[in-house]
Amino acid sequence: MAKAQLLIDLSALQANWRALDALSGPGTETGATVKADGYGLGAGRVAQALAAAGARRFFVALAEEGAAIRAALGAGPAIHVFGGHMAGDAATIAGADLIPMLNSAEQAARHLSSLPGHAYGVQLDTGMNRLGMEASDWAALRGDLLAGLCTMVMSHLACADEPDHPMNARQLAAFHAMTDGITIPRSLSATGGILLGRAYHFDITRPGIGLHGCRPFDTGAKPVRLSLPVVQVRDVGPGETVGYSNTFTANAPLRVATVAAGYADGILRTLSGKATLWHGATPCPLLGRVSMDLLTVDVTGLGHDPETLDLLGPHQDADQLADVAGTIGYEILTGLGARYARVYSD
Ligand SMILES: *Cc1c(COP(=O)(O)O)cnc(C)c1O
Repeated sequence: MAKAQLLIDLSALQANWRALDALSGPGTETGATVKADGYGLGAGRVAQALAAAGARRFFVALAEEGAAIRAALGAGPAIHVFGGHMAGDAATIAGADLIPMLNSAEQAARHLSSLPGHAYGVQLDTGMNRLGMEASDWAALRGDLLAGLCTMVMSHLACADEPDHPMNARQLAAFHAMTDGITIPRSLSATGGILLGRAYHFDITRPGIGLHGCRPFDTGAKPVRLSLPVVQVRDVGPGETVGYSNTFTANAPLRVATVAAGYADGILRTLSGKATLWHGATPCPLLGRVSMDLLTVDVTGLGHDPETLDLLGPHQDADQLADVAGTIGYEILTGLGARYARVYSD
């Protein structure tokens, strides 16, 4: 096997979706956020597995992503686009039957003029200052927008992964102030908000990272194993160096494996000299720099030459690797490279 393999357990994803669904009451519908190619795992297969588990509503960032989900799922499930209705998107939105979450007066005007009679949602800003209409825009437009084919009103929490952060209650209050009394379904929470409790659930939730068992839902199953093939193995003597810029020097005889994946595959270069790969339950330290297509790994402790080494798996999940790299599990997953063979099991 020449290509690195990303092994994806779809039943683990489904179990996580069910567990997140069970955290909210029967009056709350649990959707699924599958932007960025389903957090790196392949949006089509991920969406199909979640639909089979019961998800009927999907969320993506861009209209093109929505079209890919529609192609995988066929007619039926609702597909919402967080980025709203951007110039040039009308044909994609209409063709794939997507629901743009309108973020501004400009987007509302664009949507209503280019696709009259086509459903939409509205995204409100409750303090994150990233996407969504501000209270003043909403006050001016809500009468017209709610009288039309509006199917959801949503906002997004900035600090939901910190349960004690006062921003959560502030945004909740702002969302109530902007939406109480409307009869259209409301959505406020992604993974973090689901864990904040019933007050944050409203009618629809939008978990993404929790489907992958990452923080803040790190009690979930871990669906991903990243298995990298060993290209060659060599002896390195004391005083010899390994990799670019000679950043590692052996101080004892070592057995060093060269593995076929690098920063072009999303293995962050900041992991140089710090990461650990695994062979079964045995840790194998990364030596020297991460190259574009290759890693060099100390396999001395194994006592034999391995055929593969794992970067992600039961002994190291995306959050743990992210801690070493100084980032978050989201970035590790969404950076998983296009060169990996994605292999699915259920
Ligand atoms: C990415 C995103 C989500 C999913 O968030 P997770 O933290 O991955 O659960 C939900 N809603 C919006 C608006 C997002 O941008």
